[in-house]
Amino acid sequence: MRVPLVVGNWKMNGNQAECRVLATSIARGLGKKSAKAQVAVAPPFTALAVVGKVIRGTDIKLSAQNCHWQTSGAFTGEVSPTMISDLGCDYVILGHSERRHVFQESDDLIARKIAPVVAHGMRAILCVGETLAERDHLQTAKVIARQLRIALKGSEKGVIDKLEIAYEPVWAIGTGQNATPKQVDQVHRKIRTFLVEALGAAAGNRVRILYGGSVKPENAAELAEVDSVDGLLVGGASLKAETFLPIVRAF
Ligand code: PEP
Repeated sequence: MRVPLVVGNWKMNGNQAECRVLATSIARGLGKKSAKAQVAVAPPFTALAVVGKVIRGTDIKLSAQNCHWQTSGAFTGEVSPTMISDLGCDYVILGHSERRHVFQESDDLIARKIAPVVAHGMRAILCVGETLAERDHLQTAKVIARQLRIALKGSEKGVIDKLEIAYEPVWAIGTGQNATPKQVDQVHRKIRTFLVEALGAAAGNRVRILYGGSVKPENAAELAEVDSVDGLLVGGASLKAETFLPIVRAF
């Protein structure tokens, strides 16, 4: 049984005080009514400590939005898995489309980060997804298979069991245009088939597959109802408790 997971990706938004207020509102809102889904929030690096303090003792998990693969060294501007695990992170988002397309992170580079994240006791949320041009050219399945193949190459069982996949079509992120439940289901089923073939039925069926891309309270229920959806990765709508909490409660 895969327990649904809803992750709020706050991206590069909020100073420490603002993030504290948002985390407090989410924690209070969740405290009142129990949700079936697990919840994680991914504030910017600069607010991980303060948000970690707010959610300590609650069921909310802390996630980083990215990290380097090395433990330490001459990597100016980077943050290591050691540093974020020291701040109490349970999850790290890897290969988000903004990392891939704005910062040119390649499949190979993203792949290098997965094992170190797991080795530091955290779970990796690996994002995959096609651009609009790739979808229009019927390349969706091919692109996602390539992203998964390279990311998972050589991954051991211990790593696979600490992994979630987030299907995030690039054309749906921050655009207000979500993929339809049917489009999501088609791709999630392909991802599941890939995982089962690559890892075997038991391990392949344990991995949670989340959907992300313009999820909001208005469409969360119909996405959560799709059998192949094990959770949601939420950007814009996670920046307010009033819009994030109804999404969590959609499960
Ligand atoms: C995201 O950042 O992962 C995301 C899905 O953003 P949005 O919900 O704003 O489309």
